[in-house]
Amino acid sequence: MNICFIASECDPLVKVGGLGDVVHSLTKELINLGHNVSVILPFYKTIRSNVVFVGHKNLNLGGVYYEYDVYKTFVNNISIFLIKQSYFFDRDHIYGTPKAPYEDNYLRFAFFSLASLELLSNICEIPDIIHIHDWHTAIVPVYKDLYYPNLKYVASVLTIHNVAFQGLFPSHILPSIGIPWEMFHKDDLEFYGNVNFLKGGIVYSDVITTVSKTHAEEIQTTMGFGLEGVLREKRYVFGILNGIDTEIWNPGTDKNVYINYDVNSFSSKKPQNKLYIKELFGLNTEEDRPLIVFIARLAKQKGLDLIDLAIDDAVKLGYDFIFLGSGDYYYQGKVLDMVRRNMNYVAARIEYNDSLSRKLYAGADMFLMPSEYEPCGIAQMIAMRYGAVPIVHKTGGLADTVTDYYQNKSQSTGFSFEDYIYKDLLYAFARAMIVYKDKEEWIKLTKRAMEQDFSWKRSVQEYLKIYKTAKLIRMH
Ligand code: ADP
Repeated sequence: MNICFIASECDPLVKVGGLGDVVHSLTKELINLGHNVSVILPFYKTIRSNVVFVGHKNLNLGGVYYEYDVYKTFVNNISIFLIKQSYFFDRDHIYGTPKAPYEDNYLRFAFFSLASLELLSNICEIPDIIHIHDWHTAIVPVYKDLYYPNLKYVASVLTIHNVAFQGLFPSHILPSIGIPWEMFHKDDLEFYGNVNFLKGGIVYSDVITTVSKTHAEEIQTTMGFGLEGVLREKRYVFGILNGIDTEIWNPGTDKNVYINYDVNSFSSKKPQNKLYIKELFGLNTEEDRPLIVFIARLAKQKGLDLIDLAIDDAVKLGYDFIFLGSGDYYYQGKVLDMVRRNMNYVAARIEYNDSLSRKLYAGADMFLMPSEYEPCGIAQMIAMRYGAVPIVHKTGGLADTVTDYYQNKSQSTGFSFEDYIYKDLLYAFARAMIVYKDKEEWIKLTKRAMEQDFSWKRSVQEYLKIYKTAKLIRMH
């Protein structure tokens, strides 16, 4: 099959969160199975890669002509097209500063979406499937049906990685993105008086997927952030669990890890990794205190309000903590305040640092992810592979990937709590401590977590089925 991914992130060229991981690793897996896959990305200022010039073009978007260049590069056998438009993408950040998203994001991503279709229509081989991701490229099928009759039989699949971000803008932007006013109504792009890019993607795509089975239910019932009804009306909404690239995420070969280990050697080697990162972060506490690591975008979604309420008691229970994250100023402040209150037991770095994150996964006894909601979550899967036992809020993909020790001991891979309240998190800390103190049990639990298969093998087959379904729908 000939598949084109149009996305705003693709690791390792650009990654802000799990979206970047998924676009890269799913593409790689499809290529391994013999499919013809390409990716189209904006050429952000931060992208470093050997590129080949493809062509200089210009594009009419809402009556304004924008000049741009197309480049091509290869990463792990994936051919990636890069759309270079300096005004839109030569910026220090991807989506916005820590204070706020860029105000012209609607124009940046409408431009990128249209330029991607131009590329498919005029330069590349026409694909069978366009696979788009989140609100940034959700408008692609809208433009496709409006302006590209030659792409009529190309099916589109929209994957919703985070339904909370919808690309919501005031209606007056419509002319500037070349969308006629007739499309501003409730069965189309209109959403409570605004324009909603993600809703456009839902209405115009052939199939919708999200990144776990539980979350596919949630977005149609309780957690669709206003889009529940639109999603329910769509017949084809599926949940497919993300995988991780088990070659890239492998504690046995990861060059960033201080001392490599595997499922047979972790119990003797993990403690050395733990000591190493404790020294790195200046934590000079007793060896037998369990170390909890938190690695995430610093955003409300990630449960920092709960952690803030529970952490002082957790330190008294006997835990140490390390935080690695970047994001909202407000939550940066919260993390630093937790450190200030518990100087000897809590440490943090406010930055995005892939290499450091790997050292932390390797050194942690436990991994904390009490997200308010979590469509899938990649970090808890990485943590399990690195033998850091997850403590999670039972929601979305966290519910689908972590089995609680006290609910099903023989299958358990971590600890989860049901209600999003800090007392339940604290109770989970207490329950985890009891098991941690029983060394034999702890080793068994860690081993089970490490042995989980989170590779893409199963999920990629589900995507292939969905591509076939989307093609059939498009043809009829
Ligand atoms: P989301 O997509 O909501 O950000 P996921 O758990 O799906 O959350 O994916 C997060 C990914 O980003 C993981 O690979 C995690 O290791 C990585 N990550 C998050 N914050 C950082 C950071 N500060 N430094 C390095 N990696 C990070």
